Amino acid sequence: NKKTDPRRLEAELAEVIEQVRGTDGGEPSDYLADVDGRDPDSFAVAVCTTDGVQADEGDESRAFALQSVSKAVTYAVALQERGLEPVLQRVGVEPSGAAFNELTLHADGRPYNPLINAGAIMTHALIPGDDEQARMRLLLQRYSDLAAAELSVSQDVLDAELARAHRNLGLAHMLQAADMLPDDAPEVVRGYLAQCSVEVTVSQLATMAATIAAGGVNPVSGERVLEEWVVQQTMSVMFSCGMYDASGQWMAEVGIPAKSGVSGALMGAVPGALGIASWSPRLDGQGNSVRGIGVFEELSARWDLHVLRHR
Ligand code: GLU
Repeated sequence: NKKTDPRRLEAELAEVIEQVRGTDGGEPSDYLADVDGRDPDSFAVAVCTTDGVQADEGDESRAFALQSVSKAVTYAVALQERGLEPVLQRVGVEPSGAAFNELTLHADGRPYNPLINAGAIMTHALIPGDDEQARMRLLLQRYSDLAAAELSVSQDVLDAELARAHRNLGLAHMLQAADMLPDDAPEVVRGYLAQCSVEVTVSQLATMAATIAAGGVNPVSGERVLEEWVVQQTMSVMFSCGMYDASGQWMAEVGIPAKSGVSGALMGAVPGALGIASWSPRLDGQGNSVRGIGVFEELSARWDLHVLRHR
């Protein structure tokens, strides 16, 4: 069990960045136009092994919003705080086969899974706390524990999200009409959008992924943040539903439980091995970062990371 050399890791990440940088198709998400100082051609990659070796390359000092990557993390926190059954009663674990912001619920009244918007809004409402502020305080605490860093909400991103929240409000009202959402729909949506607006660096995101990959113990701080069953459940839905409508193809080709977001963020967890994070805002037609896909394809092949490979 010799420790990985961080300088070797950094050299490999630099190579991968050079290899993938030319892949410059895709468009950044429209909310970014309302946020100052965002370069759509930013590109950063980081890894953190389950024994805490870290490496990052590219625009690694820049912060970006978690966006939908937060859905996986909030699901983990809800499981940890509420237990499996109470969460399963409110949100399922089936891929929806429809767009992430689809205005439908499963026939049983639950959102299909926690990684589409209806399920993510439902999951946000399961976070303990009497109001919006209390839920966000707890989430920020847990997100920070996972990242081994003090994280916060970007007000610019949140304002841009609040200005285009109509569809999410529609989803929340639909959940409230189905008696699924106990609280005030607009308040839950504001909280959900605040969680989407939490900013991280690529290295902090890799540490979050590494904590999931390490069974819930943060390899940088040494702190246990999540129980083992929680990360198993979380990685299961990441694997089946984490990459929007490209989740099946991703499972076959890359083979790493992952979650992407419209900021161009992408986080993947290889159980027992490492967390990987990338950030590059140009998105493909499915909403996944074009270069992020390139990074994960390349690292999966180089380091033989497909979790279903016969060993
Ligand atoms: N804030 C975005 C929304 O809910 C997140 C979308 C995403 O990253 O998929 O509309």
